[in-house]
This record gives sequence, C-alpha cells and structure tokens, in this order.
Amino acid sequence: MKRDYYDVLGVGRDADDTRIRKAFRRLARDFHPDVNPDDPQAEAQFKELAEAYEVLSDPQSRAAYDRYGFDGLRGRPLTDFSHFGFADLFDVFFGGDMFGSVLRAGGVQGGWGAAAGTAPSPRGDDVAVELELEFVEAVFGVTRDVEVEADALCESCEGSGAEPGTGREACPQCRGSGRMREVSSLGGFGQFIRTSTCSLCRGQGSIVRSPCGACLGTGKRRTTRTTSVEVPAGIADGQRLRLGGEGGAGGAGARSGDLYVLVAVRPDERFVRDGDDLVYRLDLTMIDASLGLNTVVPALDGDIELRLPPGVQPGDVKLFRNRGVPVLQGYGRGDLKVVMNVTVPRNLSDDQRELLQRFEELTTDRNYQPDESFLDKLRAAFRQ
Ligand SMILES: [Zn+2]
Ligand SMILES: [Zn+2]
Repeated sequence: MKRDYYDVLGVGRDADDTRIRKAFRRLARDFHPDVNPDDPQAEAQFKELAEAYEVLSDPQSRAAYDRYGFDGLRGRPLTDFSHFGFADLFDVFFGGDMFGSVLRAGGVQGGWGAAAGTAPSPRGDDVAVELELEFVEAVFGVTRDVEVEADALCESCEGSGAEPGTGREACPQCRGSGRMREVSSLGGFGQFIRTSTCSLCRGQGSIVRSPCGACLGTGKRRTTRTTSVEVPAGIADGQRLRLGGEGGAGGAGARSGDLYVLVAVRPDERFVRDGDDLVYRLDLTMIDASLGLNTVVPALDGDIELRLPPGVQPGDVKLFRNRGVPVLQGYGRGDLKVVMNVTVPRNLSDDQRELLQRFEELTTDRNYQPDESFLDKLRAAFRQ
C-alpha cells in the first residue's frame, strides 16, 4: 500500500512549491544516514520521501497525480531510487558532502542550506624551530621554552578577516556552500552532480566585503610567541619533535599547522653516545693496568666505583647495564661501557729506562698472553 504523497511530506494538497521543498528538506534531515547509521527503516522512509518530492515538485507530475492518483503517473520516467545507495541519494539531492558536513559540524543554523563557512578552509602553516640541548638534558628529558614565529588569529577580527562590526557573508558565487555544482540530468528527477571548490571564496563559503584593517582580511597576524616544549628522555641529536596544532593558525575556522622542533644536542666531554649506550674511556698507566687498581668512573646518575684486577689489557670493556641513556618513548636504559685505554710512558729518564730494561730481562712467557686484538674489542664495544 503506497502512502499518499501529500501525507508522506506532511503538507496539504494546496501547499505551494516553497512549502513542499521546505517539508522535504526538514524530513530528509531526519533520515540522513549520518543520523540513522543503524536504522534500516530510515533508508526506506527516505526513498518514499524522495519519490513523493520528485512527483510533487514537478508541476506536470503533480497535476497528473492530483487528478488521477498513482494511476496518473504510469509511463512517466520516474527515478528508480532502489539503484542508489543511501548516502548517494543525498548527493543526488543536495550535492557533495555539504549536507553531511553541516550536520557533523553540529547542526544547521537558519534553516536548510545555510552552510556558509562550514566548508573546510586551508590549514595553517607548519613551523620549525631549532632547540639546542645539553647532553644530560637530552638524556633525561627536559621542558624548555622556545620562541615560535608563526601566524596567530588576528585579535582585531578574531580570525574572521572582516572589519569589526561587519561580518562575513555568504559567497554569492557558490551561495555559501563553498562548492560549485555541475548538474547533469539522469532522466526523471534524478541528477548526477559533480562538485568542485568555489574559486571566489576558495571553498570557505563566505567572503568579506570590508576586510579587517589589522590583518588585511586574512584573519591572521604574524606573531612571536613562547611555547613550552616537553622533550622526552632519550632524544638524540638530529631528531625532531612534532607538536600537532602548535604551528601557524589557519584562516577562519581552519585547523592550525604543526610545530616541528629540530633537536641539536651538545656533545659531552666525558661520554660518547652510541645509540642508547654510553662509552667512557678510562685512561690507565701501564703500571696501573698491570698491577690492578681501584678507581671511580663517572656515570650520568652518580659515580661508579670500579675495582680493576691486575692485568688489564688495552681495549678491555667493563659493562654497566642500565646505566646508559633511557630508551626514547620506551622502557629501560642502555648500558655504560668503560673502555680501558692503557697509556705508555714517554720521555723516560736514565733511571726509568734502566728499571724497565731490568724488568724486561725478568719477564717470561707467563707475563704476556695472546689476547684478542684491540680493534676487535673496540668494534665489540661500539657494536656497529
Ligand atoms: Zn583581522
Ligand atoms: Zn564561493
């Protein structure tokens, strides 16, 4: 049983075109797929609504329906809506995503089609700043202020670009939609609509008649501001941080760009960083290396007492687990590697030379043992 078209639209038989169009738009909004994602009835109800509107919005079809009812429409090329997806139907009737974006933006003000300014505007600029850190700041993380030169919303017009007291008005070329529609008929009421960005308002849907004097209508002004940057522990020289939305302001209603912080880390006098590991070079005299030694090596969080047995060889590595750099945005820390650097005395006096020669006469094969090469140890330490 088909329902009467006037009943479907909820209008009287004497309703004029404007009234029918308004009724259709008001009801169609209730059945939009974005509003009724899980309601299987909504699609059928919308198709019924669309059919009623197709007939009653066309004077000839309406006259035939008024006189003969459904029989009067036989042979008329009506659109077969069953071929259309639910969302596509809205494109056919309303063009592009205008309707959808208006709904998603939180409702229509001033009735149907009052979509001025809801189309997406260009995004703000991305901005980059450099930040130089001390070695320890990079290792443990730090919060630092950086100066950012970027666009901000114009205070005078609050980003609208219009002289205070005036406003933006709907773009006359696209009538506020931000899009130009090219309509081709599919026969009957059905239409295929191609949309493109409006050239006059560049998709914003609105234009400014009296531009703001402070920003010349851009809605933005160049400013220098201070932004606090939280640098995570473990960041390394040459890495960069992205702060979403902290870059330049967009135009009216547009998203801001991002802020990129390019990190430079000053080298440390004590440590060489190798990924998350730290390498420390311990200088030992030939005598200390031979006799053994108790000493202290620096670490990032407090000195470490080191007890060296007799017979330390050049390039020997002592490993301290979890005393290196915290893993960036992860768990745990790298290691501290202490590499033994045995120094050989120079500029010997006669007495010293005599003693060493005497010592050499006393050495046997037991004193010198084959060992892995110095280079192999260094490679292991830096594990390239
Ligand atoms: Zn302004
Ligand atoms: Zn326009």
